[in-house]
Amino acid sequence: MRSALLLNASYEPLMVISWQKAVTLFFMGKVEVIEEYDQDIRSVSIVIKAPAVVRLLRYVKRRTVRPALSRVNVFARDNFECQYCGAKLQSKIATIDHVIPKSRGGTTCWTNVVTCCMKCNRKKGGKTPKEANMPLRKKPKEPHWLPVLTFRMNGNVPKLWQNFINLK
Ligand SMILES: [Zn+2]
Repeated sequence: MRSALLLNASYEPLMVISWQKAVTLFFMGKVEVIEEYDQDIRSVSIVIKAPAVVRLLRYVKRRTVRPALSRVNVFARDNFECQYCGAKLQSKIATIDHVIPKSRGGTTCWTNVVTCCMKCNRKKGGKTPKEANMPLRKKPKEPHWLPVLTFRMNGNVPKLWQNFINLK
């Protein structure tokens, strides 16, 4: 059975939880169901739809967790797409490109690394996007929440979640 996305009262995604946990929170009166799967859950007395997205009724403060700058997190931030040609990639064949090449003083930071296919990486080489005439599809930014969450879903984020987890 599928997982549910838990949102804060502010609609900010917090974590992925099991559907059982989502149902429990719902019956405890802690969350409201925002989206549900087209899939029934039966217990002795009731039938409900499996929750896909639930929202806490009371806001919880959380410590800000800064996502680690790792390969998979960069891929997840970029939705597993080459930031130059848009090709959809699997993590096995995706590469990391330094927008401003390291050889030119570019650093390894969220705003200077992007997901890149091997072909584009080879083509771009030691050039800047401008020099290579390869504009970025979007400006790389530090993500605001753990993109590794989408990675755990193997990049297959349920459609019903997508409104809630667009990365900034
Ligand atoms: Zn590419």
